[in-house]
Amino acid sequence: MREELMVEALCWETQSKVHVFYAAENRRLSYFCPDEHCLTRVYPKTIINTYFYAESGHKTGCLNEAGSHHSDPAQTGRPRPKPSALPPPPIPNWLGMPPRPQRRMPPSEEQLIALARTAKTAPPLYPATMSQIVDAWLMIPDTERKTHALGINTRQLNYQSAFTYIRYLQNDITTLDCDNHIIYGDATVSRGKKYYFVSSIKRFSFQNTNLPLRFDLPIEHPFARKMADYIGRQVLLFWRGPVPAINAKKTAYQMFQPDDTGLSGLIMRPSP
Ligand SMILES: [Zn+2]
Repeated sequence: MREELMVEALCWETQSKVHVFYAAENRRLSYFCPDEHCLTRVYPKTIINTYFYAESGHKTGCLNEAGSHHSDPAQTGRPRPKPSALPPPPIPNWLGMPPRPQRRMPPSEEQLIALARTAKTAPPLYPATMSQIVDAWLMIPDTERKTHALGINTRQLNYQSAFTYIRYLQNDITTLDCDNHIIYGDATVSRGKKYYFVSSIKRFSFQNTNLPLRFDLPIEHPFARKMADYIGRQVLLFWRGPVPAINAKKTAYQMFQPDDTGLSGLIMRPSP
């Protein structure tokens, strides 16, 4: 019996265990209780928090049965407290949404049991935005990063292999693989007349010189308010998107904020 809200379930279409955060964004897929003696159909439901809910209840004895479904004969008249706490969220393990699977025929009980067994030890699929993933990366100690899976696009990487520290790369800009990876490096922020300039310390060769990666943020932009705090401090820039191209004045490799800033673009954090 659970004391917290149910946040993990089997997803038939993705053939994996998923976090309710994924299910809430993909309500048309089918979800089942992962207890192999139960396997009841469950649905994401939001009241205050979002959790998995079994419309007709779980089978008796299911590990995911909510505490309030049982009255304790020894304590009649004193209802058990309803479990309402959310367990702490897992470390995100996918940037954005993984590719949407094809619809399949509804599963047989045997197929669900097999899925419950294979999914038992795997962490639930828990997608997140780039900024949530950068924050998770900052929290995980260096030595543990490779033990935490992280998918980007269709590739299964981990918190070490998905991030590339640009400092030790060659100076050849064409070798940057910043679509399939999040690149990061030390940077400084300066203020011009109309823009804040975020410039990487690392430089990449161009003709006979070496130029930084640079991001120009208009001073009146809503995100620019934070920039003043970064001036004169060492910061970390994280970038995912197209390989920066030389600008018109040939003074930097320019980064442009993409339309979808949830999954790509520039993220800045103070250097740890
Ligand atoms: Zn159940």
